[in-house]
Amino acid sequence: MTKRIAILGSTGSIGRTALSVLERHRKRFAVSALTAHSNAALLAEQVAAWHPGFVGCVAGGDGANPEWRLGAGSLVEAATRDDVDIVLNAVVGVAGMDATLAALGAGKRVALANKESLVVAGELAAAACATSGGEIVPVDSEHSAILQCLGNRRVDAVRRLIITASGGPFREWDAARIHGATRDQALRHPTWSMGSKITVDSATLANKALEVIEAHFLFGLPYEKIEVVVHPQSIVHSMVEFVDGSVLAQVGVPSMELPILYALTHPERVPDEATPRFDPVAGSPLTFEHVRMDAFPALRLGIEAGRAGGAAPAVFNAANEAAVAMFLEGDIPFGGIAAAIEQALSVVQDNARPTRDSLMDADRRARAVVRGML
Ligand code: NAD
Ligand code: MG
Repeated sequence: MTKRIAILGSTGSIGRTALSVLERHRKRFAVSALTAHSNAALLAEQVAAWHPGFVGCVAGGDGANPEWRLGAGSLVEAATRDDVDIVLNAVVGVAGMDATLAALGAGKRVALANKESLVVAGELAAAACATSGGEIVPVDSEHSAILQCLGNRRVDAVRRLIITASGGPFREWDAARIHGATRDQALRHPTWSMGSKITVDSATLANKALEVIEAHFLFGLPYEKIEVVVHPQSIVHSMVEFVDGSVLAQVGVPSMELPILYALTHPERVPDEATPRFDPVAGSPLTFEHVRMDAFPALRLGIEAGRAGGAAPAVFNAANEAAVAMFLEGDIPFGGIAAAIEQALSVVQDNARPTRDSLMDADRRARAVVRGML
C-alpha cells in the first residue's frame, strides 16, 4: 500500500535527500505535505514535482505562493493531517518539537531527523507514543544503525551501545587552536555534507551529546550503557554489544539515503540499487580512537545535562542553538559556544517535572543568558 509522507523542512539537506530517495520509490510513497522555512523557489519546484495536498512556508519570502499556509502552526497542521501516514521531521532545532509531539499524539510514525525534539522533550514524546500508538523511527545514521543491530531483541539483551563519531574537522587540533577556529574551518566537515547548524555541532561534538541523549530516549537505556568512540572514516555507523559479549555493527559509506529510506520502511527492507554500495577494500582501513573530552567540552556538558534530566537537556539544546547562531554570525569565537552552554546550564535550573510549557520557558531563559553574554 502507498505510504503517504509529510516532509517538514523539505528544502534542507535531509529534506532534499529524502525527496531524491522517494523519486526512486514513487510506487511505494506519495508526498502529502511539504513545509519549509525559506527557499520558496526550491519549495515551488518540489510542489510542482509532487503535488502535495498541503504546503507551508513558515517565513514566506521570495517566490512564496500566497496560498501556502504561513505561520508556525503550519508544521503541526502538516504533521497531523489525515492523509499523512509518516512524518519525516527534517526541521533543524527545537522549532520541530511541537510537530513531533503532535504527530506522535495523532498516532503517526515520525521518521525523526530532528533530534532536538527528542533531546528537549524525550519524556513527553514517550508519553505521546504510549497513549496514542505513535512511534519514532530514527533517521540519524547512528541511531538507525543501532535500531538495525537490535533487530527485534529486547533492550535487556544489550550491554552497551557504542556510538561512533567522526571527530569532526578539529579531531587532531589542540584545545587552544580549536578555541579560535573560524566559521569556514568549522563548516568544513571531513565526511558528511549537512546543514550549517549540525555541521558546527559536529565540530564542537555537541552533536554527539545530542545523539547520546537521543539514544537514551529512543532505546530506553541508562547513560552508563551509552559510549562514544571516534571513528574518522564514518563507515561503522554505530555498534551494539549484547550481554553475551557479541558486538554487532552496521556498516556503509557515509550517506543519509539508507537511513532515510529505512526509517520509512522499517522493519522491512526494500530493494534500492541506487544507494551507494560499500566496498570493504576501498573503505579500509577502519580506525577507532578515544574521544578527547578535554578538547571538546560541549560533549561533556551535554552528557552531564542528559544525566541531570528534567529541563537540563532543553537548556543545553537552547544554549547551543543560540550560541551556534552567534558563532555563525561572527559574534563569538568557536570556543565561546561551549562557554555559553556552561553558563546557561549553571544559571537556568528547573527540577520540576517537565511540561511542554516549562521546557519552552527553560529554552527561552537559556537563550537569554547566552545572548546576554555578548
Ligand atoms: P538544514 O538547515 O539543511 O535544513 C533545515 C530545514 O528546516 C530547511 O528546510 C529549513 O527551511 C527548515 N527550517 C529551518 N528552521 C525552521 C523553523 N524555525 N521552522 C520551520 N522550518 C524550519 O538542516 P539539515 O542538515 O537538513 O538537518 C535537519 C535536521 O536533521 C537537524 O535536526 C539535524 O540535526 C538532523 N540531521 C541531519 C543530518 C544531515 O546529514 N544533514 C544527519 C543527521 C541528522
Ligand atoms: Mg548522526
